[in-house]
Amino acid sequence: MKIDILTLFPEMFVSPFNESMIKRAREQGIITINITNIRDFAQDRQQQVDDYPYGGGAGMVLKANVLGTAIEKVKGPDSWVVYMSPQGKPLDQSRVWELAGRKDLLIVCGHYEGIDERVMATVNEEISIGDYILTGGELPAMVLVDAIARLIPGVLGDENSAMEESFSCSLLEYPQYTRPASYDEQEVPEVLLSGHHENIRRWRKKQSLLRTLLKRPDLLLKKCFDEEEKSLLEEILFHREN
Ligand code: SAM
Repeated sequence: MKIDILTLFPEMFVSPFNESMIKRAREQGIITINITNIRDFAQDRQQQVDDYPYGGGAGMVLKANVLGTAIEKVKGPDSWVVYMSPQGKPLDQSRVWELAGRKDLLIVCGHYEGIDERVMATVNEEISIGDYILTGGELPAMVLVDAIARLIPGVLGDENSAMEESFSCSLLEYPQYTRPASYDEQEVPEVLLSGHHENIRRWRKKQSLLRTLLKRPDLLLKKCFDEEEKSLLEEILFHREN
């Protein structure tokens, strides 16, 4: 997958994209990430990229002729252009799965009060990472790239791991434990030490349902339950064991 990012602050991406999973994915050629400075497309000697808003008001606006040219130059024939914006649809895991299926993504990071509205004609989609305002689109772009990268085949190593994580199948992931088996007078649940794969699988599924019910019951409203899940939910709700 190829990801282009347009930003006024390319340095912000240096360390985050040279660590851990994304670093490995880039080294293995699974993902190519190109960071381009929007300022390179400034059209005057002062390299001005922003200007006062028409009609007055606070802050500055990223200029249409600068950002528009940047998008035009960097965009490939198959690029899907995403503008990181608090006004976009909030990102969720199902959207991340869809975007992970694309070959060519161009992510635009805004700054100041945002971008000149006329540039939106070249944008395919606005994505928000939540209902709060950040200074720029750089952190949201990193969030999006990280979430997408781990779903691309070959990046995580174990492909099943992404399938079991929170939000796949509208459930939160079951609790995790590692050594030591006893910590602060708390023991690892016995079933996990049993080596009985079927019991472990069923216990984990039940814990996923329980956690989702307690922490994010809203997720269950979107979910279609299979027969096993229905019976586990009954056990949870009526404290019944099969
Ligand atoms: N004036 C804009 C508004 O009220 O909608 C907010 C501009 S914000 C200070 C500057 C830039 O940060 C935006 O253009 C966008 O790229 C990015 N940004 C801020 N919050 C974001 C969020 N929650 N999700 C995605 N991008 C965000």
